[in-house]
Amino acid sequence: MSQAPETIFSKIIRREIPADIVYEDGLAIAFRDVSPQAPIHILVIPKKPIPRLSEAEQQDETLLGHLLRVVQQVAVQEKLEQGFRVVINNGEDGGQTVEHLHLHLLGGRSLSWPPG
Ligand code: C5P
Repeated sequence: MSQAPETIFSKIIRREIPADIVYEDGLAIAFRDVSPQAPIHILVIPKKPIPRLSEAEQQDETLLGHLLRVVQQVAVQEKLEQGFRVVINNGEDGGQTVEHLHLHLLGGRSLSWPPG
């Protein structure tokens, strides 16, 4: 894996900048997006600074599965029993702006399809 760049998410993990953290364990952290696109918009990120999904490696397989389990748990916490969406933007065409893998958990309203 290429050397991961330092991002704003590393600073959130280290509590160097504030964030509304809703979940944390040894491998992952989840916090509310500062620019929410739905009533509930939470980012679930690994503490390991994987820049993007396409750069995850075989050794990250368990971690990637864990992130989905965290999404599942946070969705229960946020009472998203009506449904929710999970999005991973990857790279330039994918609309990724922060080079630290993150899963968007969106819910609290009916979401249209396809996304833009
Ligand atoms: O997938 P993408 O890289 O575009 O998403 C980055 C997300 O990180 C954005 O939704 C942005 O609002 C969010 N963000 C945040 N807190 C920051 C910086 C960015 O929630 N301090």
